[in-house]
Amino acid sequence: MKVLPGHYPWCSRRECIRHATSATEHQGPLNELPARGRHGDRKLPLLHSRLTHVRDMCPDTEISVTFYDEGTTYDAAEADELIADFETFLTGLKAQRAQLGQAAPAAEQVTA
Ligand SMILES: [Zn+2]
Repeated sequence: MKVLPGHYPWCSRRECIRHATSATEHQGPLNELPARGRHGDRKLPLLHSRLTHVRDMCPDTEISVTFYDEGTTYDAAEADELIADFETFLTGLKAQRAQLGQAAPAAEQVTA
């Protein structure tokens, strides 16, 4: 892929934004977790992330993570923590998934 002058190799070429201050907000491609189940008809993904950088506002590239329409940015150390948290979450989600469909317990016996 051709890298445009003044842009990062990861830039999503049409999505970088030129602000009125003449600062460029560089944006990478979206990484999306689609909404499914009861929220599957929503237009927004459940979660999405992308690389972003505005030289005048932040010294380094960050990862912007948005849950529906609420978002925040993470530097490298914060992204490492977020990744570890996701791995823990996925482990828990897989364990819960394995327990779906288990037979209901027998009725509890009430002792007086
Ligand atoms: Zn760019």
